Amino acid sequence: MTKSSEAKAAKYAASDLSVKDVYRSVMDAIVDQRLLPGTRLNELAMCEAFKISRREMERVFARLTFEKMVRLVPNRGAFVASPDAREAREIFAARKTIEAGIVELAAARASGADFKALSKNMAEEDAHRRAGRMREAIKLSGQFHLLLSSIADNTILADQVRQLVARTSLVTSLYDNASEMVCWHDDHHKLIDHLRAHQTKRAVDLMRRHLDDLEESLDLDRSISKKTNLRAIFGLDAAKPESISKP
Ligand SMILES: [Zn+2]
Repeated sequence: MTKSSEAKAAKYAASDLSVKDVYRSVMDAIVDQRLLPGTRLNELAMCEAFKISRREMERVFARLTFEKMVRLVPNRGAFVASPDAREAREIFAARKTIEAGIVELAAARASGADFKALSKNMAEEDAHRRAGRMREAIKLSGQFHLLLSSIADNTILADQVRQLVARTSLVTSLYDNASEMVCWHDDHHKLIDHLRAHQTKRAVDLMRRHLDDLEESLDLDRSISKKTNLRAIFGLDAAKPESISKP
């Protein structure tokens, strides 16, 4: 070990955080929208903040890049990913297919303890929403989908949902029109009612519609359409005919 690398090792020796801890912290900050899409993740500054080595930070970035939460740009560094409209649509298409399957599996397996956990999630979300703590409410509405996937008891599907829910957070922070409408709250309640009543088809249809509604609430088509009010955009309605003709 060279002198400078020894010094560096000593500098970072104070850290009790593992690569996994740092990965979780960065992932949480992106999902909670404290780190927004396009934000540059300065490697040195992050090493210092977490007190870990560059090699460890690179491992964190590698995992986040693999999961499409971070984009590595040669010679420029790491950035929080900014999914384009096509990627956003693919995320929703994947979620609809996978989560419809998850609802079907969950319907066959859900026990009293599972319903208790789901009800607790919704009650907590309610409390945060009423108190105006939208960041916490949004996080819990994402966790509702993760809870369902854990009831389905398939780790591969659960892992896919975890990644897709995280990527949905990037998409909503980029394209959200209605603001703070990550999940239609009532839908979660209705879904549980259908599951309790063993109405599997209704529950599956509702999950598809729930994700359709979320996708449709986003402004993924930022092009001029028939609905675009061009006169308002260019201020044409404000100009009176006589003022135009005056010198
Ligand atoms: Zn939802």
